[in-house]
Amino acid sequence: MTDKHSSELPSDRIQRRGLMLVLSSPSGAGKSTIARNLLETDSGLELSVSVTTRQRRPSEIDGVHYHFLSKRDFERLRDGDDLLEWAEVHGNYYGSPREPVERAMAEGRDILFDIDWQGAHQLVDKMRADVVSIFVLPPSMAELKTRLHRRAEDDEDTISKRLRNAATEIEQWRTYDYVIVNDDLDRAFGAVQAIVRAERLRRDRRPGLFEFVDGLLREEI
Ligand code: 5GP
Repeated sequence: MTDKHSSELPSDRIQRRGLMLVLSSPSGAGKSTIARNLLETDSGLELSVSVTTRQRRPSEIDGVHYHFLSKRDFERLRDGDDLLEWAEVHGNYYGSPREPVERAMAEGRDILFDIDWQGAHQLVDKMRADVVSIFVLPPSMAELKTRLHRRAEDDEDTISKRLRNAATEIEQWRTYDYVIVNDDLDRAFGAVQAIVRAERLRRDRRPGLFEFVDGLLREEI
């Protein structure tokens, strides 16, 4: 799944502000797979690596998927205003470190957030113009359950808790800019790529256009 349009078009070289791309969904709807595919195929996008108090899963690497912290260390970051947003999800704390995001945005790079609706709302409140939010829905609740079991990374209690919380999460769908039903991973991924591509071309995100158009109009014909 390569994205030949990723960031190589001449129009993309016109200076623009960074984009904060927020992906949310109930656990098991395929959001993390979409996020992984995006990061692998789009060199212009980087992940905001969250901090969490959740136990590390066997497949996860500290510092890559999350920064795994004790509750005390998490609270220190939160109370020091070092998190752009934070929330309690399924009984654990999660948050997005502020500094890497602010640095990337200042340099015009795009950041991907794999966060829940509480975090998405906080980012929108703080940085409305820079946030593009996408909600991923499962094709059915039965499919969601199957996917959570198939993933086989969580115990039964955790899976039940996540299924119970899914309805609360899904109820937030209206507050997102875009909503995608993930009944086919390739199609859902293609839709997210299309959104990213279009959002990067928005006039209000590209202050460099002023200079470009000035130059066009000064050209001798
Ligand atoms: P998981 O434990 O399955 O990795 O994540 C559980 C939920 O927490 C997911 O919906 C995920 O998007 C969300 N999440 C992960 N990191 C953050 C974060 O930094 N902030 C918020 N608000 N939610 C997060």
